[in-house]
Amino acid sequence: MEQTLTEFLIGEQRKAPGATGGFTALLNDVGLACKRISCLVGKGALAGVLGGAGSSNGQGEAQMKLDVAADRIFRRATEWGGTLAAMVSEETDLPYAIPAHYPKGRYLLAFDPLDGSSNIDVNVPVGSIFSVLRAPEGVAEPLVQDFLRPGSAQVCAGYAIYGPTTMLVLTLGHGTHGFTLDREIGEFILTHPGLRIPEDTSEFAINASNARFWEPAVKRYVDECLAGRSGPRGRDFNMRWIASLVAEAHRILMRGGVFLYPRDERDAMRNGRLRLLYEASPVAMLIEQAGGRASTGTQRVLEVAPRSLHERSGFIFGAAGEVERLELYHREFNRRGYDAPLFGVRGLFRAGAEA
Ligand code: MN
Ligand code: MN
Repeated sequence: MEQTLTEFLIGEQRKAPGATGGFTALLNDVGLACKRISCLVGKGALAGVLGGAGSSNGQGEAQMKLDVAADRIFRRATEWGGTLAAMVSEETDLPYAIPAHYPKGRYLLAFDPLDGSSNIDVNVPVGSIFSVLRAPEGVAEPLVQDFLRPGSAQVCAGYAIYGPTTMLVLTLGHGTHGFTLDREIGEFILTHPGLRIPEDTSEFAINASNARFWEPAVKRYVDECLAGRSGPRGRDFNMRWIASLVAEAHRILMRGGVFLYPRDERDAMRNGRLRLLYEASPVAMLIEQAGGRASTGTQRVLEVAPRSLHERSGFIFGAAGEVERLELYHREFNRRGYDAPLFGVRGLFRAGAEA
């Protein structure tokens, strides 16, 4: 019989000497939160949950009703179990303290309760992203700074995607594994063990409406993809854009590709768009554990420690070969201007197919 999420987690726990089961309990609670959110998202207009909440979060973003509901579900599902010392959500300014009447545990949880929420009303997949850190030894009341660690300190990262099927995709640092929700028995079942991202791809994803603000490295990369067979890459590329990070990450984990949400030249976008703590870092861990690569453009995402809870970053991830190429373009071309089309610059990457 197939493995449930619980069986998988307990199997992992048995491999870790000294594990107490707190971590397994936490992930079971996270799994429950995702099942509850999946159920609510699936009801849509029937449950009266579509549309805006009329409020905004601490970052000044308009909240959807489902942002607020999913945030509450995540907190409620994980605060009582005695596994967490504190948590941080996209939807709140400061860490959420565990209510005093519950015991505290040794983990810190950061989450985006509903990613892609601008897509809710058009029935496009949305998701939840989560990241688990260990609380510093001996700290009973974690502070903001205790969350500000590089993504490489994560002990677990994952997301749930609420699409035609609901899936939970998870890494504990030994590969990236996908579980599908069996709605009849209410369990996540291991259906996609050991996901691997092919090193090369002919599919890229970027919001091209921002093209005029892109930095030279990104302009060059996209121009070369668009030039297709007769360009320097020597092959045709497809473009995809779902505008939901979870859905984009999921496509790349399932069939490869590269995703870019780079920083650009607008003031508000100088540090990129996606948040490190609960978007870029957990997705980067999942991608690396599946053999892909994740970069800010100039640095490995997992090496970046956010300086604030909601700090943003440029984010490029997916097929290792493509992300390496983008990093090279950032090193070589970002310092000077790029006049498109610059396909005259040959020799750096002469595609084999050109010959
Ligand atoms: Mn998000
Ligand atoms: Mn969100």
